[in-house]
Amino acid sequence: MKNKLVFSTNNAHKLEEVSLILGDKIELLSLKDIHCDVDVPETENTLEGNALLKAEYVYKNYGLNCFGDDTGLEIEALNNEPGVYSARYAGEDKNSQANMLKVLHKLEGKENRKAQFRTAIALILDGEKYLFEGIIKGEIIKEKRGESGFGYDPIFIPEGYDQTFAQLGNDVKNKISHRALAINKLCEFLRSIDKK
Ligand code: IMP
Repeated sequence: MKNKLVFSTNNAHKLEEVSLILGDKIELLSLKDIHCDVDVPETENTLEGNALLKAEYVYKNYGLNCFGDDTGLEIEALNNEPGVYSARYAGEDKNSQANMLKVLHKLEGKENRKAQFRTAIALILDGEKYLFEGIIKGEIIKEKRGESGFGYDPIFIPEGYDQTFAQLGNDVKNKISHRALAINKLCEFLRSIDKK
């Protein structure tokens, strides 16, 4: 296996999270590091499809091993909406406050508030494709609580806790989150083939 791996993102926070878990055996590169300034359009209708699009773009155009990710909030009573459309649920401007208001409005009067965050990671390694998934289950509360995090964090309480992601803070969230679970599976896989 080549020891260079591209993470098809320009999100510095995500990049740091993964490189900490991977350690120094693998050189993790961002899109910026490979001088790619394309924002690969998320045109698929599944998280897996979009994650793969991002990885394939780099593999095809740069010939480098690569992985991409996509995350969505899936709410049971809304037929798993907003799902793959989480970022743009209330409009193209990707406004988190408007997205949360839309969710709260759609759940008004509904008993079932069960939801989950799901992250899909697609890896392309020497032309082979691999998928990894991380899920955290929880529920949507009736009004926003907490200041930290981003996206839907203020309205989501993970199972086994009584505070929202936005109240728990990044230290706790980054250990238990959907993204951390998916990243850990990816890293475990990379370490296992590195030993062979
Ligand atoms: P992305 O695929 O990581 O860019 O996530 C897509 C969208 O899902 C984001 O724009 C957020 O609205 C939402 N989202 C993803 N991860 C989280 C999270 O950890 N907390 C809250 N919202 C999230």
